[in-house]
This record gives sequence, structure tokens and C-alpha cells, in this order.
Amino acid sequence: MSTVRTRFAPSPTGFIHLGNIRSALYPWAFARANGGVFILRIEDTDLERSSQAAVDVIIEGMRWLGLDHDEGPFYQMQRMDRYKAVLAEMVAAGHVYPCYMSMAELDALRERQMAAKEKPRYDGAWRPEPDKVLPPVPEGVKPVLRFKNPQGGVVAWEDKVKGLIEIRNDELDDLVIARPDGTPTYNFCVVVDDIDMAITHVIRGDDHVNNTPRQINIFRALGQEPPIYAHLPTVMTETVDEQGEKHVSKMSKRNGAKPVTQYRDEGYLPDAMVNYLARLGWSHGDDEIFSRAQFLDWFNLDHLGRSAAQFDEAKLRWVNAQHLKAMDDGALSTLVAEQLAKAGIKADDRLPAICGLFKDRCDTTVALALWASAFYAPVTPNADELTQHVTDAVKPAIQALATQLGDCAWDKASLSAAIKAAITAHGLKMPQLAMPVRVLLMGTAQTPSLDAVLALHNRETVLQRLRIA
Ligand code: GLU
Repeated sequence: MSTVRTRFAPSPTGFIHLGNIRSALYPWAFARANGGVFILRIEDTDLERSSQAAVDVIIEGMRWLGLDHDEGPFYQMQRMDRYKAVLAEMVAAGHVYPCYMSMAELDALRERQMAAKEKPRYDGAWRPEPDKVLPPVPEGVKPVLRFKNPQGGVVAWEDKVKGLIEIRNDELDDLVIARPDGTPTYNFCVVVDDIDMAITHVIRGDDHVNNTPRQINIFRALGQEPPIYAHLPTVMTETVDEQGEKHVSKMSKRNGAKPVTQYRDEGYLPDAMVNYLARLGWSHGDDEIFSRAQFLDWFNLDHLGRSAAQFDEAKLRWVNAQHLKAMDDGALSTLVAEQLAKAGIKADDRLPAICGLFKDRCDTTVALALWASAFYAPVTPNADELTQHVTDAVKPAIQALATQLGDCAWDKASLSAAIKAAITAHGLKMPQLAMPVRVLLMGTAQTPSLDAVLALHNRETVLQRLRIA
């Protein structure tokens, strides 16, 4: 079998969101799972809407998620000469013809067809046929070039998601493949690229499914067999309108979607994102949580879902929490250190252990960094908890504990012994002392066990925070 070659072909218009990047994840995974090649192609022919800033964000998002490409990025705007050369071959082979129909004539044609309840389509007025007399060429008008779509028969392909799709050629009119100024149009460029890049599998959003029969016909006119296609169902998302009503619609830039890189800033893990996005349109039995390696081991095109998937932020958070818990403390601390740095906080070698102690109660690295910050920056105790727990009655016991902590050994066992001694000496129950001490040290009483928390603090910080009581 030939090497698998897949591509991600984004148009760099606006930011890239989760719905878009899923169309990168699957071709990437399919290439990796099959020892193939993954290509990045930037479809930047829409000059008005494309920008280098958008390309940068696509590349940054892919790098963050670990979707590395082997070839490219190729830019369509840099391949214009190549498209024009292939266009010239098409002209020479008689696959295209000039069409001089003006916009006004096209509009009139469309209106006549609509009035007759017909599907609006180009009527082939300028298509040369044996014995046909073409209209006189108008003066000073530059023609478009139209592709001679085959007449009769069907275009069919076995879509890896949608199954067999058959379109009658009569449904397809002769597509414009070059504008009056000679620049090639979208569907033509895609086919030339997919041929030149030897793409074996096109995995893309199903908003392109209507282009596919046209592209297949162009492939065949160029003497090539088309690749295998897999058209992914849309990613839907729920939004709430101004009246508070919920709507489910296609995820889009205008519709509640966030840029991919924002999830990094909000404390999501790349592996969790890959896991969540993988499940948004593909399944491996009932498996919900899996590693990148497992995903690549399992991924194939046979278990892509047919129905639209709905984005669910709560589930994404849950998946993230599972990955966070399972992650090695050292690796996790690197990401938490980055979050702390954003708040101007410099961590130290206690951070891996801090992450280990608190990760079970966090769903993002941002939440974890918030806990960790209590070890490196001043805390502001929650006012209600302060009043509730740090009472005058318990202050002498807190001071006694502070005194003990002034010179005891700084390990969990010794710290635990010091706490027990203070409780006994003041006739208190464990929570009566542990709660106020937690509020003073961490800002809240809801923390892991006090001896573990104490052990990770510096002695000086502890004494300073307890003396305030
Ligand atoms: N540039 C197209 C898009 O961003 C993708 C085209 C393709 O994958 O064939 O939707």
C-alpha cells in the first residue's frame, strides 16, 4: 500500500476555533497512526479576508496541541504559477472553454430558471459542441474559463463518514475555474494541490461535500484518480440569546467559539484537548479518557460518527481534570509555573509536590496555580471564614502552635505531632484548630490535610501568617 498522505488546509480568515482544529486532528492522527505524512496547506487565496496573523495563530494552536506537520506550510498564493500551468494544460486538452456570459445575463438566466421553478445553473451557452453555433464573441470582454463537466452518468464516492454518495452529472453545471484576469478559482487550486501533494486521504468538514463531485471530475480530467474522502459532521454549540433562550447551532467565530489558544491560557492541557476533540466525532468503544499514544494506536476512519457532535464545555473540563490528576507532578509543575509567572510569581522546587497535593481538587492549571500562589504570595483570608474560625477562644491555641512550629523539625510527622500537642494542651478537637490555621495559611478552610499543607510552606511564612491571629 502507498504511504498515507493527509493534509489540513485551513483558510486563514479570523481565529481558529475547536470546530476548525478538529479538521486538523483527524488527518494528523490518521497520518501518525499509519506511519504517513501530514501536510499543512494554507488556503489564502481570499486576499481580502486572509492574514498572516491568522496563519500564525493556526500554527501556534497546532504546535500547542502537538499536531506537528511533516511538510509545509504551503501557501496557495505562492503556487499561482503552478495553477496557471495546469490550467494551460487543461485548455490545450480541451477540458475548458471560454465563456463570455456577462453578470447581467447570468442574473437574467437565474431569474428565468427560478420563475420556472428550476434549479439555477449555468446553461452551457458557450460550451462548444459539434455542429453548435456559438454566440458572437462580444468585443472588449474578457471571458471566464469554464470546466467541461462530463454530461450524463454519475460521480460517486464511498465517503468514510457518510457512506456511498452519488451525484448525477446533470446536477452539476460547468464550473468557472479561471476568472477573467486568469486567476484560478478555489476548487481547481484544491485539486491541483491534492494531486501535487499526492494526498491519499482528504479528511475535512462536511461543508465541502458539495465541492467534492466537482473536484472528482477535475481530478479525472487531469488523468488522476481522486483520493479517499471523509467528510466530518459539523461541530455544534449551544448559545444563549439576549432573551435567555438556548439555541444549538454550528460552532463559528461569530457564535460563541473561542480561539484554540485561549484554552491554553485558561489552563487546559494539550493531551486533554486532543482526547476531548478526538471524541467529538469519533469513538473507540466506550473509552472516554485516553492518552495521545492510545488515541494514535486506536485511530482509524471506520469509527467516525455520522451525526453532528455538540461541544460541551463542562465535559471538556471534566476530561481536563482527569488528565490533570493522571499527569506527572514534575511535568504539571512546568505548566503551573507558566501560569504563576503570568501573575508575576516565581515558583521554586516545592512546586511539583504542591501540584501533587492539590491536583485532585482542580480541573485546570489555572485553578491549580491559584492554590500554589498561596505558597509564594500573600493570601487574603476569606472574610466569612475568618470570622467563623479564627475566634478569640482559639487564638491562644494558634499562638501556642506558632511557638511550637518555631523550632520543630519541618517534616509531616513532626508537624502533625506539634498540632496534636497544641490541641491537647488547649482541650480542643482537631477541626477547632485545623480550620482557623488553614484559613490563615491558605485563605480558606477547605484544604488538604493540615500537616501536608504545612510541610510544603516555608517556616517563616507560616510563623508570619499565624502571628497575625
Ligand atoms: N480551506 C478550506 C476550509 O478552511 C478547506 C478545504 C479542504 O480541506 O479541502 O474550510
